[in-house]
Amino acid sequence: MKGAFLYGPMDLRLLEVEKPVPVEGEVLVRVKAVGVCGSDIHYYLKGRTAVFVPKHPFILGHEFSGIIEESRGNKFRLGDRVVIEPQIPCFKCYYCRRGRYNLCSSLKFIGTAATYPHINGAFAEYCKVPVEVLHKIPDDLGFEEAALAEPLSVAIHACRRASIRPGEKILILGAGPIGLLTLIVAQLSGAVEPLIVDNVKRRLDWAKEFGGHPINFDIQDVFEQVVEATGGEGVDVVLEASGAPKAVSTALKCVRKGGRIVLIGNLPDEDIPSRLLNIVIKELDVKGIMRYTNTFDVAIKLLSKKLIPSSKIITHTFSLEEIHKAFEVAINGEALKAIVKP
Ligand SMILES: [Zn+2]
Ligand SMILES: [Zn+2]
Repeated sequence: MKGAFLYGPMDLRLLEVEKPVPVEGEVLVRVKAVGVCGSDIHYYLKGRTAVFVPKHPFILGHEFSGIIEESRGNKFRLGDRVVIEPQIPCFKCYYCRRGRYNLCSSLKFIGTAATYPHINGAFAEYCKVPVEVLHKIPDDLGFEEAALAEPLSVAIHACRRASIRPGEKILILGAGPIGLLTLIVAQLSGAVEPLIVDNVKRRLDWAKEFGGHPINFDIQDVFEQVVEATGGEGVDVVLEASGAPKAVSTALKCVRKGGRIVLIGNLPDEDIPSRLLNIVIKELDVKGIMRYTNTFDVAIKLLSKKLIPSSKIITHTFSLEEIHKAFEVAINGEALKAIVKP
């Protein structure tokens, strides 16, 4: 089969290798669609992401769907259409037993260097995965749309952790793919015209199209805009989806007293100066989110009921041979979500 291996920064090689062989409890998936994620881009540009540094070449790609072509597990049959939840928990530890399996003490992750040996991902014709991470998809849900279930899960988890209630005023920092999906899910949770901040025109246009009130922080003062939109009170909830250290201060400033802040973005691995006293005097709830837990069934339902504007989110599709082009449009910001179809 063909697979795209990451060898180092800007060094992605499409190689012909042996098909993976599933063992007991695993299935072989013929990959039909795989999204290019922000973390894939980090690996591609810098050869690493956050604290994860690859120790050997491996195949990237973790937002994917496909058809089961070989099954060593009981629950799934040949020909089943599935989407894959790329985190592989142990299902036994303290966190797994409490349903918070995203925090599993021995979590593995498909298509990343988070664990060693690294588990090959889905920028390939085939990928083998354990049956526990498979989710069947309905016939009316296309493979490309289904591949959105993974990033959509992040948005669902963030909005759940934020406990958004109908009519609440929301501020989203960052209008990248995760920020925009969060904008959509926040509205499904009852938020009306959330404020959403970025400085890239194309992203702000998408934000407006998806029902947000865009704010360009290069030419507008975010705090002033929040004051104007909330009668001076501040927003009920800030969802931080940019990963920019400065955004933490913006969140602490723009949230109302008694409000909530949810940090979605991967902040740099260092101390970040912020006026934490605001958490005390405003009596804030500040939460982080680590990927997602128990979200895929909901994500699949939202996608198949067309509550997510998938056709507008998927702006580009490519063959596996064109994978470098897929990364190019994801990096230069032309694409909201680029999908590769191996
Ligand atoms: Zn992802
Ligand atoms: Zn566990």
